[in-house]
Amino acid sequence: MIVCENLVKIYKAADLEVVALQGLDLKVESGELMGIIGNSGSGKSTLLNMLGGLDRPSAGKLFVDGKDLFRLSTAELVEYKLRTVGFVWQNNARNLIPYLTALQNVELPMLLGGKRKRERAKELLEMVGLGHRMKNQLNQLSGGEQQRVAIAIALANQPKLLLADEPTGSVDTKTAAMILDIFQELNRTLGLTVVIVTHDMQLARKVDRVIAIRDGKTSSELLRRKAEHTEELETGEEPQEHEELAVLDQAGRLQIPREYLQAIGADGKLRIELEDGLILLLPPHPRT
Ligand code: ADP
Ligand code: MG
Repeated sequence: MIVCENLVKIYKAADLEVVALQGLDLKVESGELMGIIGNSGSGKSTLLNMLGGLDRPSAGKLFVDGKDLFRLSTAELVEYKLRTVGFVWQNNARNLIPYLTALQNVELPMLLGGKRKRERAKELLEMVGLGHRMKNQLNQLSGGEQQRVAIAIALANQPKLLLADEPTGSVDTKTAAMILDIFQELNRTLGLTVVIVTHDMQLARKVDRVIAIRDGKTSSELLRRKAEHTEELETGEEPQEHEELAVLDQAGRLQIPREYLQAIGADGKLRIELEDGLILLLPPHPRT
C-alpha cells in the first residue's frame, strides 16, 4: 500500500530551510494497522501530509496504492485525496462543521447522490457506534463522539488508506482506547490499511506494528509477535510481546540509541566486528 524510499521533505520559509524528513524509508502492506511514534518535531505530521497528498515531498520515492505521488498532476492529486485516502485530524475543527448534525457532516463530502448518500451516511455512523446520535448537532456531542464522526467522514468515499494524525490527542484515556478500538475494528472488518500517529506508547502497543521516527528518519520498529512464555495467558489476554528492531536504511546505515553509545563510552567512532554470526559494536581501542 505504501512504499517510501529515501523520502525527503524540506520546508523553505523566507531564507530558512527546515529538513523535516531526511531520507525516510517505510513500507506498509495492504491491510496493515500500524502506528507511528516520535517526539514532537520528528516529522510525523509531515510524513502523513505527504502520504495524504496534502503537500509534495522534495526528493526520494513515494508510492501509495501503486500511484507515484511525485508524478501525479494537480487534477490527479485532487482525485487521489478524494478517493484513495481518508484523513482524521487531532483538531476537530479541521474535521467537522459545528452547526450541522452528525449525519449532515458525514453526507457532505460524499461523492454519491440522493437517497443512497443518506443511507450510506447512516451506515457509517452506526459503524462508529453513533447510530443514536445522528440527528444531534456537532456541538451537542462530546469530544470522543466528535472524533468518531470525523472517522465516519474519513470513510465516506471508501478510501483504501486511512491516515490519522494524533486522533486521540485531545481526549481522555478511556475515550482514546475506544477510538483506537474503532480503528482496529475497521481494519479487521473492512481490510482497511490504517496508519495512526500517536505519542502514547500504550496506544501504540495496540496496533500490529509501530515505527519510531527520529529526526525525520525511521529509526526503529516494534513488532508484535506471539509470546513464547505463557505467563500472560492467566490474565485472559492474548499472549503477545513486542520485539524492537532497528531499521537499516537503503545504504545499510543504522541509528544507535544515544543511551547505548553512552553506555559503552563510544564517542563518534566505533569498531565493528563480525563474530559467530553476530555484529559487535565496540568502543575504539585506546590510542597508544
Ligand atoms: P511532528 O508531527 O512529528 O511533531 P512535524 O512534521 O510537524 O513534526 O514537523 C517536523 C519539522 O518540520 C519541525 O521542525 C517543524 O518545525 C517543521 N515544519 C513542519 N511544517 C512546516 C512548515 N509548513 N513550514 C516550515 N517548517 C515546518
Ligand atoms: Mg504532528
